[in-house]
Amino acid sequence: MELSVIIPIYNEESTLGELYPRVRNVLEGMALAGGYEMIFINDGSRDRSLPMLLDLAARDARVRYIDLSRNFGHQIAVTAGLDNANGEAVVIIDADLQDPPELIPELYRKLRTGYEVVYAKRRSRQGESVAKKFTARLFYRILASITNVSIPVDTGDFRIISRKVVEGLRRMPEQNKFLRGQISWIGYRQTFVEYDRAERAGGETGYTYRKMIRLALDGITAFSDVPLKAATLMGFTVSGIAFLVMLYTLYSRFITHNYEPGWASLMVSILFLGGVQLIAIGIIGEYMARMSANVRQRPLYFIADTNLPAVAVPDLAE
Ligand code: UDP
Ligand code: MG
Repeated sequence: MELSVIIPIYNEESTLGELYPRVRNVLEGMALAGGYEMIFINDGSRDRSLPMLLDLAARDARVRYIDLSRNFGHQIAVTAGLDNANGEAVVIIDADLQDPPELIPELYRKLRTGYEVVYAKRRSRQGESVAKKFTARLFYRILASITNVSIPVDTGDFRIISRKVVEGLRRMPEQNKFLRGQISWIGYRQTFVEYDRAERAGGETGYTYRKMIRLALDGITAFSDVPLKAATLMGFTVSGIAFLVMLYTLYSRFITHNYEPGWASLMVSILFLGGVQLIAIGIIGEYMARMSANVRQRPLYFIADTNLPAVAVPDLAE
């Protein structure tokens, strides 16, 4: 198998009709000697996506589908695809046609010139709210400034990766996936091509703010200890200030006898200290939660149904 295309699907009934022929035409046009496969992962869609996928699979033998047992989220859906992809090269692409399938041949060509990863970098983004663009920009800049791994800014998961990188990802068992970070971390020769990100072809975003915040926190906690160190630093700074204030208080009380029964200063310091402590505990909590998720070692997802070769379907009875 020369190429696998992984497409996570969450409530995409309005885009599937256009997506499939476009991807198929592009792949047919590439005339791949080794053949290709499209792997659709249904991530617990609540609309007609699944029956549409079943229908595609019945008509086209190169269509594979994996129906997850519920909505596990975009990153896990892609992981399920990666775990079952057979291609020497693997493309990850969104289903909403914001990532143009027509870019796949260019990604593939570039990969063949001696790279292991070619990611698609957004030159511009259309049809997305100012708030989304702003938060995304901000997030990528913050992430870049506090991690050692150079995670490319303004790129999503749209990219092509070689088998070597797929194997690398399979060996990274973390529960909270941030694939674009993990792929950067893996290394080898990586490059990019630029494209203009289109509007959603239909339907609406499956990424609620809640999911976006979770992804952002997963990215930061998996690739940076800076927040933890900042908590420590904050603790030391505040303790230092508190110590000076204490000296001053004792000095006023016993030496100059010039003091007021002041609840203002008291309240301020209690509130300030309380705030700092809560922030620090919160930061530690974020890391702890992820640690405990990794200690639990749960499977990342369950497959309810698939037309993949039987080996790939986990049997719970075992
Ligand atoms: N997606 C998914 N599970 C989810 C949310 C999204 O599999 O819980 C898929 C979705 O079908 C699409 C891709 O992930 O193929 C990107 O999602 P979306 O376009 O909604 O995100 P946005 O482009 O708005 O960031
Ligand atoms: Mg989208």
